[in-house]
Amino acid sequence: MVVEADMAEWIYAQVEALGAVDQDMGRLEKAVDAVTREVRRRVLERLTQAAATREEFGCPTCGEMLSVVRHRQGRTVESGFGPVRFERSYGFCPHCGHYCFPADVALGLHERAQSSPRVQEVCALMTLQAPAGQASEDVQRLTGLTISASTLHREACRQGERALKLRQKQEQLTATADGVAVLAGRAPRLPQHSTMVIEIDAWNIRERDHWGQTEARRKAGEESERWHWVYTATVFRLDQRATKQSGRPVITDRGYVATRQGLESLKRQLYAEALQRGLLQAETVLVLGDGAVWIWNLAADTFEHATQRLDLFHAKEHLWTLAGDLYGRGSPEAEAWVRPYLRWLEQRKDGALDVIRSIEDLQRTLNAFDEKQQKALARELAYLTEHKDRMDYKQARKQGQPSGSGAIESTCSQYQRRFKLTGQFWSLAGDEALLALDTLHRNGRWHLLFPHSADRS
Ligand SMILES: [Zn+2]
Repeated sequence: MVVEADMAEWIYAQVEALGAVDQDMGRLEKAVDAVTREVRRRVLERLTQAAATREEFGCPTCGEMLSVVRHRQGRTVESGFGPVRFERSYGFCPHCGHYCFPADVALGLHERAQSSPRVQEVCALMTLQAPAGQASEDVQRLTGLTISASTLHREACRQGERALKLRQKQEQLTATADGVAVLAGRAPRLPQHSTMVIEIDAWNIRERDHWGQTEARRKAGEESERWHWVYTATVFRLDQRATKQSGRPVITDRGYVATRQGLESLKRQLYAEALQRGLLQAETVLVLGDGAVWIWNLAADTFEHATQRLDLFHAKEHLWTLAGDLYGRGSPEAEAWVRPYLRWLEQRKDGALDVIRSIEDLQRTLNAFDEKQQKALARELAYLTEHKDRMDYKQARKQGQPSGSGAIESTCSQYQRRFKLTGQFWSLAGDEALLALDTLHRNGRWHLLFPHSADRS
């Protein structure tokens, strides 16, 4: 019987035979990995064959026995240790009316993909981090696997499509009371008196809609690059927000939503995410955003009883702009004028109302300002009045709630870092799939695509 010590001896002898002994540790590690690769591949091949043989000929979709069974159909799959070949049976389901390989489904393999589930996972994960060309090099370095950039890209797209399907299922659940109950049932038990914070924003992604035709289109006077809105939101509980030693806030656990499929889709996705994080158990729901009208329409529609809050930074920015319009941008007069208002906004109960009243008084001293300044006054008064019930910043501080939507802004820049990289070859449809894949990963639901990733080993 071979014991571990014998195996270690054998591996050592192999490395020695390669003449790879007197090297730095990085090279030693690589040598051990290389000489054991074929052994591991063989073991995996045997295990895979055994699992394929054990699999009965039931239809993976409906469970019915398959007819017209053909045995010993060969297949080769690329695994982390190299190509693995096995044979399995193939049959026809009279009920579903399709041909299938039950063993492939049981093994977690897909019809057209040449990769093992772990290799599929590596492709998906690496493509989220970098464009496929770079990812291909990184995979080679880290695992010794040679996966071409095009395979990586194709595989990541396929996983993205799977992520999209899962997302669509979630969206559909929000349409019925039963579905909502299913989503709410996935939520953990929330601590008593929980506050759920929802932050919403949007950013732009620039895409080429017409690959290879740029020059022709430019000559024809058409713009080949377009900007698309990516609607983004994040959901977390107030008790999941902590402060680092440096004083920077961190959120230990939170949900993400990112989509370019329009506001209706965002609404459903966000509702689904909030439900799964305990929306129905939360005592207080808080929605934060900037001044964009669509944010507040969405909040009123979807989170009817939520407290709404305008991002403090945006509110202040508007006051600064007005100060500049009235007294000159960057002038000491502008600053002297705006300072008390900024203080009122943050420190007074109903501070926003005081600011509005005071600016209204100012507006009445008509002859003090020219037409342009009057316009600026009217514009900013309209803005402040529109949002007056969303500026309870004193109350926010008292209750330990955020006054700003910093969390969503950092979320947007995280997504942007990946999606604005040059040299990627994502199409319009591919982008949405990649967004769905990235979001699934961020939301801690990776195991839904890669069940093996849930095991701790
Ligand atoms: Zn069937």
